[in-house]
This record gives sequence, structure tokens and C-alpha cells, in this order.
Amino acid sequence: MPRIADNLARIRDRIAAAAERSGREPESVKLVAVTKSASARAARELAAAGCFDLGEGRPQDLWSKQAALADLPIRWHLIGHLQRNKVERTLPLVFLIHSVDSLRLMQAIDAAAESLGRQVPVLLEVNISGDAAKHGFSPQEMPERLAEAAECRHVQIRGLMAMAGLEGDATSARRDFRNLRELRDRLGGLPEGARLDELSMGMSGDFEAAIEEGATFVRIGSALFEGIDAG
Ligand SMILES: *Cc1c(COP(=O)(O)O)cnc(C)c1O
Repeated sequence: MPRIADNLARIRDRIAAAAERSGREPESVKLVAVTKSASARAARELAAAGCFDLGEGRPQDLWSKQAALADLPIRWHLIGHLQRNKVERTLPLVFLIHSVDSLRLMQAIDAAAESLGRQVPVLLEVNISGDAAKHGFSPQEMPERLAEAAECRHVQIRGLMAMAGLEGDATSARRDFRNLRELRDRLGGLPEGARLDELSMGMSGDFEAAIEEGATFVRIGSALFEGIDAG
């Protein structure tokens, strides 16, 4: 039986190799282990193996995993769509929201952060492939949305997040990742305090290409749990 610790070590090696191939420090790429299809017990094993950055796609699942692992120093990442009525409950639990996909959501986060007396770091999700089914800002609207975001003084914009297109192959995934980096590189006129240092892109099937194109966060689920009993 493969063990989670072995899978984790193998993924970390592949991350480091992809970073080195592209002339980057391995530490410049952070792994978010996506536990959405894993049990709390499996997530606990990941932490025992030294992985404390865990990601969930649905706010409700983040709440319940967080409660189950509350004794551990986990940094929780929300990587899926956040409904505005779930902002208040989610903010105190989360280290980084990767998936801010509308100005109205940003404003809701801003208001909740203000009442908590906090600053909340976020990434803006971009629908880089243009899939109709995907959440995210279009690349074209980004300059305008960033300008409007200047009013959200309790939200700290730290970068961009995207997924490769649903229909695409490896070549088109790499092109999507490159497009996200190039969009980041040409977005100027950021609101005060905003930075776009972080690029959250790459999943089990395409994270090496994402790293070669500049990912600073990769979000990996299934490859970590391959061969692991789901219970
Ligand atoms: C599920 C999910 C991942 C992880 O996908 P795997 O293919 O299991 O590695 C990454 N990012 C997002 C947004 C996801 O929903």
C-alpha cells in the first residue's frame, strides 16, 4: 500500500525538479494539498508528514475539516467559489482565499474583514481559458476591476489564480498558464498595497508546466492520494 508520506515526498521532488529546470528556487513554489476528496484522517496524515497548507474547494467542507483538525496548525486555503453569505463564517478560518471572482464578493470580504479588524489576503481568480462554465474575471476586465478594488481597504490583493481549460491538452494548459503570467506582468496601476507576486496555478495533471511558467502556488489533490484508501 502506498503511504501518503511517500506520495507527498514524490510530489515534492517533482516540484523541486520543475523549479530547478526553470532556474527557480524550489522554495519559491508552495504546495497546497487539496483535501476535497480525502477524509479528515487522510488530511491528518498529510500534516503528520509535514504538509500544513491544505486546500478545500467548498466553504462548508473547509469548515468541517477545519473543525476536525483544529488541534493542528493548518493553514487553510479556499480554492473554490465563495458565496457571499458564507464569507463571515469562512474568514476567521482561512489563511488565503485563492478564488475571489467578483467585485461584489471582494466588497463582502472587505466589510467582514473590517468588522473583524483584520486585513484579508486574497488572490483574484481569472478565467484565463474563457470556458463558459468557469468562475473568474475575464482578462479584459482586470484593469477596471483592480481600479475598483482600491476601495476595499481591508482586502490585500496578493496575486492571481487560474485553472487550465477543461477541454485542453498539455499544450493548451501551458499556454493558459503563460497567459496568466503575462497578464500579471502587464497589469500596472495597482491599488495602493496590492501586489501580484503570487500565481496560483497547476493541479495534479499539469503542475510541472505551471511551475515552468511561473506558479508560486500549486494546488494538488488526486496525485497525493493515489492508491490511498479513501476512508
Ligand atoms: C480539485 C481542485 C484542485 C486539485 O485537483 P487535482 O487534479 O485533484 O490535483 C486544484 N484546484 C482547484 C480549484 C480544484 O477545484
